[in-house]
Amino acid sequence: MTIDLRSDTVTKPSKGMLEAMFQAKVGDDVFREDPTVMELEAKTAELFGMEEGLFCPSGTMTNQIAIKTHTQPGDEVLCDVSAHIYNYEGGGISFNSGAQAKLLSGDRGRFSARQVEDNINPDLDWLTKTRLVAVENTVNRAGGSYYSLSQLKEIATVCKKYKINYHLDGARIFNALWETKDKPKEIGSLFDSVSVCLSKGLGAPAGSVLLGNKEFIKQARRIRKVFGGGMRQAGFLAAAGIYALNNNLERLGEDHRRAGLLGTVIKALPFVESMLPVETNIVIFTLSDKMKAEDFANRLAPNNIKVSNFGKQSIRFVTHLDFTDEMLEKTCEVLKKM
Ligand SMILES: *Cc1c(COP(=O)(O)O)cnc(C)c1O
Repeated sequence: MTIDLRSDTVTKPSKGMLEAMFQAKVGDDVFREDPTVMELEAKTAELFGMEEGLFCPSGTMTNQIAIKTHTQPGDEVLCDVSAHIYNYEGGGISFNSGAQAKLLSGDRGRFSARQVEDNINPDLDWLTKTRLVAVENTVNRAGGSYYSLSQLKEIATVCKKYKINYHLDGARIFNALWETKDKPKEIGSLFDSVSVCLSKGLGAPAGSVLLGNKEFIKQARRIRKVFGGGMRQAGFLAAAGIYALNNNLERLGEDHRRAGLLGTVIKALPFVESMLPVETNIVIFTLSDKMKAEDFANRLAPNNIKVSNFGKQSIRFVTHLDFTDEMLEKTCEVLKKM
C-alpha cells in the first residue's frame, strides 16, 4: 500500500470514471465538434451561472489564458504574495502576457478590498495600469484557507468601481464551497473569469475549465490555440470531468475530516514547531531545528508514505479521493512512532 499525500493531483480514475471515458462520444474539438467537451463546458458554466466555458489541459493554462485575455503588456495584476499564478506558473504573468504582478500580503493568502483599493494606481502616464485582480480560493500555499463570500463581494465592488477585471483561481473552489456552503452561482456572479480544476480534489486525470462571458471566452479560445491547448478528441478527458462533477463533489468533506485528524496528530509531535490552521484538505507545518524537511520525508519513505517538502523546514500533506481511512490510520500510527 502506497500512501501518497504529496498532492490531490495524484489520484487515478476510478472504475466508474474510466467507464464514462470509454463511452464518451468524441470529435475534433478545435473544429468544435466534440459533444462531450461542449457538454462539460456548458455544464460547468451553468453550475457557476456564467455564460460559457472553455476546457483546457491544466489549471495553469486556464489562469494564464485569463491573464492574457484580461491584460496588455505592461499592465499590472494584483495578487497575493502566496498566489499560484505568481509562484508556481513559471513566471507566466510576464512570460506569456508581458504583464507584471504587484504582490499583496493577505491574511494567510487572503487580501482585503481595502488592500486592493490602496494598490490601484491612479491613471497617470508614468504609472503601470492596474488591470486585473486575481484571488485564489482555497489558497494552496497558505494551507488551504478560504475566503468568505462577503470578502469576495467587497473586492468585487472595488473592481467594479475602478473598472478592473476580477479573476478567480478556483483550482480548489469546491473545497472552499464545501465549507462555506455558498452556491457556485454566488461565486460566479462576482467574477469576470473563473478557473476550475477537475484534476485536484475532483479526481479527474486532467483538465480545467475557464469560465466567463461569451466575448471573453471567444478571445480565450483563440489564446488557448496559440498557447498550444487546442485538443482534438478531448471528449475522453471531458467525460472524466463530467463524471467528477456528478460524483465527487459531495464527498470532499471526507478529505477535510481526514486532513483535520492528520493535523491533530502531527501538531502533537515533539519536533513540530507550528502548523497553519487546517481548514480544508491541506496540512502545512514547520519542523523545529532538530529535523529538516528532507529527513522527515526520508523517515516516512520506508513506510511507503510520500509527502511534499514545502521549503527547508516545512512539509505539506494533501488529502484526496484515493486516501482512505485505512491509510489515515496507518499514517497516524507511523507518525506517532517517529
Ligand atoms: C494546482 C493549482 C493550479 C493549476 O495547476 P495545474 O497543475 O496546472 O493544473 C492553479 N492554482 C492553484 C491554486 C493550484 O493549486
